[in-house]
Amino acid sequence: MLEVNDLHVTVEGNEILKGLTLTINAGEVHAIMGPNGAGKSTLSAVIAGKDGYEVTQGTIHYDGRNVLEMEIEDRARAGLLLGFQYPVEIPGVKNIYLLKAALNAQRAAQGQGEIPAPEFMKLIKEKIAYMQMDASFLQRAVNEGFSGGEKKRNEILQMLVLQPRLAMLDEIDSGLDIDAMRVVAEGVNSLRDDNRAILLVTHYQRLLDYVVPDCVHVLVDGRIVKSGNAELARELEANGYEGIEESAA
Ligand code: ADP
Ligand code: MG
Ligand code: MG
Repeated sequence: MLEVNDLHVTVEGNEILKGLTLTINAGEVHAIMGPNGAGKSTLSAVIAGKDGYEVTQGTIHYDGRNVLEMEIEDRARAGLLLGFQYPVEIPGVKNIYLLKAALNAQRAAQGQGEIPAPEFMKLIKEKIAYMQMDASFLQRAVNEGFSGGEKKRNEILQMLVLQPRLAMLDEIDSGLDIDAMRVVAEGVNSLRDDNRAILLVTHYQRLLDYVVPDCVHVLVDGRIVKSGNAELARELEANGYEGIEESAA
């Protein structure tokens, strides 16, 4: 589904990704771990098409399409979606309106008409119940005054409504208490599907006890220096990144 090959990315003149190669197949959950500043957020941002990143070398293909030639909207419509590490507030725009607009944009791209109101309400009620969110969140401005945990739930809610084919979640677990993390992890697990892939960027192993990844990659200084299964995340938790950096060197 996703093939990243020898990716080099520069931000404001500094090379951040230095030859990163990664393949993700449909049905798989991949976790990217690594120390602060390694380039984890840069990777997901470049795949999603955020501004400010210059690809100087390498390729990204998604379902065989050259991602680097796709506009950010086209990427989202093709089912490639990044949640927000620091979910933005949009004053004056109701949460429910944003969800509906995003869903209808996606449907339009797939040649479908707008979702009928009753069908949308049914869908949204089911998903907010799943995320253990109060219905009043739908009527509030997007993320305005939401607590950190509420923003994360809202981010997963967006994913549950939009059902992306490649869901990228950057530090979805940061700042969550254990109960909120379980709900968020449940939400992520419910996205698991043979036709979908999930890329989780995370600092801590804790989330990976609940969302068990098929592959774990360690990103250090712009390159993947080690890949393994869920056991690798536990080793990292026990030993830190230092040993990995040395063995990679
Ligand atoms: P991680 O998510 O692994 O902690 P990032 O991908 O956020 O790392 O950042 C990697 C490096 O790129 C850091 O040194 C960071 O300061 C730098 N960087 C990221 N975004 C920008 C930016 N917009 N402007 C300048 N430097 C940036
Ligand atoms: Mg290279
Ligand atoms: Mg980051």
